[in-house]
Amino acid sequence: MNRNFRCTACGKCCVGQLPLTWNDAEANIDLFPIGMVWTPVPASSKDFKLVSQLGATVRLPDRKELGLLIVPTSFIPASQPCPALQDNNLCGIHDTKPARCRTMPFYPYREERFQSEVLSVKSGWECDTSEAAPVVYSDLKINNRADFDAERQQLLQEVPLIRRYAEYMLKYTPTILTQLALASTKTKPSHIVTSLSSFLTATRHPNAQKLAEKQLPILSRAVSQTENKPELSEFHRHYVAWAKEMSFLAKIKPKSVTELS
Ligand code: SF4
Ligand code: SF4
Repeated sequence: MNRNFRCTACGKCCVGQLPLTWNDAEANIDLFPIGMVWTPVPASSKDFKLVSQLGATVRLPDRKELGLLIVPTSFIPASQPCPALQDNNLCGIHDTKPARCRTMPFYPYREERFQSEVLSVKSGWECDTSEAAPVVYSDLKINNRADFDAERQQLLQEVPLIRRYAEYMLKYTPTILTQLALASTKTKPSHIVTSLSSFLTATRHPNAQKLAEKQLPILSRAVSQTENKPELSEFHRHYVAWAKEMSFLAKIKPKSVTELS
């Protein structure tokens, strides 16, 4: 079966969380507020094998095995636009936009033969899926696959880094295992989120301080944007905690940057 798709650049999907490769997160550290999003995937899932290759695996106390996607993410509430989205709904960093945006509508954490499942257009999106649009998927294969392959390749290159982070966090923050076990039992996919500063520390990033200096103003802005908004309180709580950690990594006193609540 053929699937047609053309992006009309309506900008409607440029909201909320944006999963990134570490390469893209680092390149845009002065643009996106970054969090590390962990998604547990049960062994019974059809995505388990691929997730295990691109992420990590962990064994729970009850001996069940979980696949773990651990993804640097532009961590933005679903109601808020991407910081790169311009008033004219076009991407302000089009020429250097992240791999995730180039690969849309395909999704690298799903096997190629299942990609038709992610081609459904969400309500309000203005993607052209008529027969006039190019055929982007046929016979369970992606056509014009350069961007998809490039994103997968980048993710594969980053697996050792992601696994080092997972090992560190599971060793030094054992409560994560309990949180993952809980998240995996929910009927809807559920996630836990950890800080970028923990990633920079765990992976002993050689430029951690410089990256922290660039990320800190972004987190401080996110703190302000979510202040006194009860519906965004969970995001606000994360931003405040992350900004405090990041100021420590940047060796900047929090109060000299912003009055973090
Ligand atoms: S980086 Fe550009 S294309 Fe990607 S979500 Fe943001 S505005 Fe949209
Ligand atoms: S919702 Fe569809 S048409 Fe609009 S920007 Fe996103 S991919 Fe393009």
